[in-house]
Amino acid sequence: MRPAQASLAVILRSRVYRESDKIVTFLTRDFGKLTGIAKGAKNSRRRFANCLDPFTRVRVYFSSRPAAGLVFMESCDLLGPATAFAEPAKFAYASYLIELVDQLTGEGHAVSEVYDLLAGALSALEHGSATAAFLRAFELHLLQLAGYEPHCETCAGCHRPLADAARVFLDPLQGDFVCDPCRSAERSWLPLEGATIAALGRLKQSALGEAAALRLPAPVAAEAAQVLARLLALHVARPLKSVGLIASLTAPRR
Ligand SMILES: [Zn+2]
Repeated sequence: MRPAQASLAVILRSRVYRESDKIVTFLTRDFGKLTGIAKGAKNSRRRFANCLDPFTRVRVYFSSRPAAGLVFMESCDLLGPATAFAEPAKFAYASYLIELVDQLTGEGHAVSEVYDLLAGALSALEHGSATAAFLRAFELHLLQLAGYEPHCETCAGCHRPLADAARVFLDPLQGDFVCDPCRSAERSWLPLEGATIAALGRLKQSALGEAAALRLPAPVAAEAAQVLARLLALHVARPLKSVGLIASLTAPRR
């Protein structure tokens, strides 16, 4: 067993294992996504108190054996409690951020920017609300960091800039954006206003904090949400439970 390592981390999910242990998946800043076992976590008030629920921000101490799947979690320091996301809307959106990161990252690939994006987004959500611009910017940045950068600046066919196009089309199977002349007849393209593509380009270039302050006109926000849902669907293996939670927030009450 190697000596303990430490890293900032966000807890993504955890479940009880055997009588009193927990199996925990967490995103670290320095070692990527890891899954570990926290022995006696159910009863330990000292080593893991309030530290292993999803959304919790911690400093985790763990040791690992070469070639072993699970790391051994020794203890955690609590940095940001999960109770910050107890309110239903915050819970639903925090769940969404975490589920997306979980699905778009593999274990053990350290990309500190993904940790920074998630920790920054949770912190912003803790103190503010999830605007359309905030959510779309988060999705765009995450896709980019995961290696699936959406190229919304130029046409995938003729490579001309899309910024001035009145209408742009998304190929939902490939995730490509094209101009009108480059669209082929045999595919079911998703038509988009030029303003939506321009907004996506701006959000992609903006830091999350800046993006959160932008206000998207309602039709642009609706189209942008559709585009990102299509792009994410290409890379998400399982349906996200939080999407239903978010839908229930805005569903009309009977
Ligand atoms: Zn073109």
